[in-house]
Amino acid sequence: MLQFTTAQIAMGQEAVDKSAALDLLAARLVEDGLVAEGYLAGLQAREQQGSTYLGQGIAIPHGTPQTRDQVFATGVCLMQFPAGVDWGDGQIVHLAIAIAARSDEHLRLLQQLTRALGEGDLSVALSQADSAEAVLQLLQGAPRELLLDERSIGLGVAADDFDDLLWQGARLLRRADCVESGFITHLHRAEPLPLGHGLWLVASDQAVRQPALAFVTPQQPLRHLDRPLAGLFCLAAHGEAQAPLLDRLCSLLIEGRAQDLLRASDVRAVLALLGGEVPGDWPSARITLANPHGLHARPAKVLAQLAKEFPGEVRVRLVDGVGSPVSAKSLSKLLGLGARRGQVLEFSVEPAIADALPALLAAVEGGLGEEVEPLAALAPLPSEPVATTLAAPVAGSTIQGVAAAPGIAAGPAHVQLQQHFDYPLRGESPGHELQRLEAALLQVRNDIEALIRRSEVSAIREIFVTHQEMLADPGLAEEVGLRLRQGESAPAAWLAVIDTAARQQESLQDALLAERAADLRDVGRRVLMQLCGISETPEPKQPYVLVMAEVGPSDVARLDPSRVAGILTARGGATAHSAIVARALGIPAVVGAGDAVLLIAPGTALLLDGQRGRATVDPATEQLEKALAERDRREKALRAAHARRFEPAVTQDGHAVEVFANIGESAGIDAVVEQGAEGVGLLRTELIFMAHPQLPDEAAQEAEYRRVLDGLAGRPLVVRTLDVGGDKPLPYWPIAKEENPFLGVRGIRLTLQRPQVMESQLRALLRAAGDRPLRIMFPMVGQLEEWREARRMVDRLLAQIPVSDLQVGIMIEVPSAALLAPVLAAEVDFFSIGTNDLTQYTLAIDRGHPSLSAQADGLHPAVLNLIDMTVRAAHAHGKWVGVCGELAADPQAVPLLLGLDVDELSVAARSIAEVKAQVRALGIEQARGLARQALALGSAADVRALVEK
Ligand code: PEP
Ligand code: MG
Repeated sequence: MLQFTTAQIAMGQEAVDKSAALDLLAARLVEDGLVAEGYLAGLQAREQQGSTYLGQGIAIPHGTPQTRDQVFATGVCLMQFPAGVDWGDGQIVHLAIAIAARSDEHLRLLQQLTRALGEGDLSVALSQADSAEAVLQLLQGAPRELLLDERSIGLGVAADDFDDLLWQGARLLRRADCVESGFITHLHRAEPLPLGHGLWLVASDQAVRQPALAFVTPQQPLRHLDRPLAGLFCLAAHGEAQAPLLDRLCSLLIEGRAQDLLRASDVRAVLALLGGEVPGDWPSARITLANPHGLHARPAKVLAQLAKEFPGEVRVRLVDGVGSPVSAKSLSKLLGLGARRGQVLEFSVEPAIADALPALLAAVEGGLGEEVEPLAALAPLPSEPVATTLAAPVAGSTIQGVAAAPGIAAGPAHVQLQQHFDYPLRGESPGHELQRLEAALLQVRNDIEALIRRSEVSAIREIFVTHQEMLADPGLAEEVGLRLRQGESAPAAWLAVIDTAARQQESLQDALLAERAADLRDVGRRVLMQLCGISETPEPKQPYVLVMAEVGPSDVARLDPSRVAGILTARGGATAHSAIVARALGIPAVVGAGDAVLLIAPGTALLLDGQRGRATVDPATEQLEKALAERDRREKALRAAHARRFEPAVTQDGHAVEVFANIGESAGIDAVVEQGAEGVGLLRTELIFMAHPQLPDEAAQEAEYRRVLDGLAGRPLVVRTLDVGGDKPLPYWPIAKEENPFLGVRGIRLTLQRPQVMESQLRALLRAAGDRPLRIMFPMVGQLEEWREARRMVDRLLAQIPVSDLQVGIMIEVPSAALLAPVLAAEVDFFSIGTNDLTQYTLAIDRGHPSLSAQADGLHPAVLNLIDMTVRAAHAHGKWVGVCGELAADPQAVPLLLGLDVDELSVAARSIAEVKAQVRALGIEQARGLARQALALGSAADVRALVEK
């Protein structure tokens, strides 16, 4: 992303006119290797179209779309002109910021810039600045405005004590995007200050993004430190930004008006007393911005000029943004919105100039001086691309999907399609809309209550209890109430609030909050269905096959396993969450079967084979009977396998394979051993870290690892060191946002950057081990040096904490590691192949991709060849190889992995008995022959067909 640094700033420049200044700037961009010489023509052409003067003595020259191909790299150069340069119309520039950008990255920079610039004029200060640092200071250090508006006030919130109330205040600030997630911890540590009359103030300047004040009052009077607690100010402090507000608050207290504050029954009254931004009952209207490069300088200037023609205030905000409305008359504020094509602007105007609204909307629709392609003319890509050319599968046809959860299921199709909601944006009256909303909420609450009573699995019950809590969140109700009072309809207000809250949670890159966001959307959709009068298709009476585009984890959790015989989805892959949950619930599932399945008529008879990944539509009677007979046979075989679960897995010709378990927590270890595990082949330690609210210290970790080793009673434990980053963020370990997190700082790359975390994990492991068999492996190794650095760390610690039975190895999850296996094998003690990631990186398909992940099949010959290389390299050095990805439990993969001479298979505990039984039915020589044939094939489908034969 573009950012300002002192190295980009050239001080004390001179230019007789704008054209000379552009020459200087272009020459500097060329010198910095950012652009080709032809970019100067772009700078000049852009100024011809309209001046790039921004205000406050600053101009932002940049090229035109036609000269984008002259840009080698995105960047900026800044030049100070102390004597000033006339930029046209008598506007004098003291700082020119020339931007080299291939797309519209410069909008972000403008946003940063205009956020930093206050209302005052910087011209003189910029002309007098005597160092690059001083210029930077002026650009970045301008005082930031304190936020105090309806979003930061919570009256009568449910709170049992001071801490609860504090949390509510901090939450409001978090929602308004003023503070980081760690702010609450800092606030907790701060000393609360009693202000008298039951008012308290607590402040922190840590983890603050924008200075802001929240004010919360409890539903019923509370006490804190033996004093009354009737209202709490939570201050996110920043420099001097809060000084005027605190002065005002002091005067209020000195004048004896604290009671006015506590008696205020609505947010407006509180804001009026504190001098905050009072929401007005102003007419408003929305429009979608269609300008190709968003609201950049030129259209923003046109809009500001138009707004200035009206004798009253004109405000505008981004509907899906978190910022407050800004004056449409201020160019810098408009640019600060960072509005992009497709985003919705909401204008609100003083009632006296209500006629400004149609003019503003017409101007935006007309492109604000730019040619725009109307949004409607762009064929929107359907979110559920059920193309018209698709036809429903005919009776008797078989659809091939991805085998996601084994088992055979038969029943009528219960097709659930994503509903489309249609509703007016404006409501009849606030009272009427509120009534509608309350009725909808009550209905949904009752439905959820019934689901809670029905759920037998506690984890599923908890999901619904969370949904109930979300519905009862007073913060949501307040925000919706505010929108209703501004005239929005109940569905529009409800959806906007849910959407904003969910986006905020998603943007935190916090796995837990992101899950909560999915739940929030889920429960939000249910209320919306009530409001729009859409009812769910009633469930068939008999056990059915659920057909959906994609099943989210909470959808699966909603299912009643006794009613859902099977699951068939159009999208998704075998490693998707929903597939994992389906396996855990023991429901046969075929996923990624293509959009045609969404056209199956409800009630059509379906037969699913979750093991082979097939669905048959309206099967013939004999086929159905055959399949059901096979199901019975399979169930019988499973019972027999279970009876022999403690016996080793040895092929008919005497070749033994170890069958271990994959686990993610220490608690269930006894049950895992009880399922027949000969050891643990993968302990995903990040799941243990995720279950702790903060980084577990060494002692806490040691206790967790010791518990697993104790439970294993001498069986080996293979532990993977912390594998976070990518799709697995840790809430308390902030990782910079990355464009491609799967290709970013994850696994060993991350832990090597924070060696103290890895060292403490290794120490805890070594301490817990004693004389028990411990195997440590590192995730996502792609380079020899990563392995060596990690190994050196282990050796250093071993000198302090000796253990008697330790092996150190790596996971093979990155193709480079498999290709380097001949080199790595000389140094490691073992390899464990993580086929989930190895497949993702070999085939370049995101393992969670909604439509492509179905093709991410680990039986692709490319993946099998990498496995083969790895095993041969390891065995040449006398080292062993395990497989711990989902593939190890795939019945079609087991013969091939065996035939490739893999030594150990590590699978989910419930698959252990079945995998062992399958090995017992095979012969090693026959499996080796099959594997050799598979290596020479061209696709995963061909490999599966070969095994099937
Ligand atoms: C794998 O990638 O196959 C693996 C076992 O690791 P995870 O699924 O935890 O990324
Ligand atoms: Mg992995």
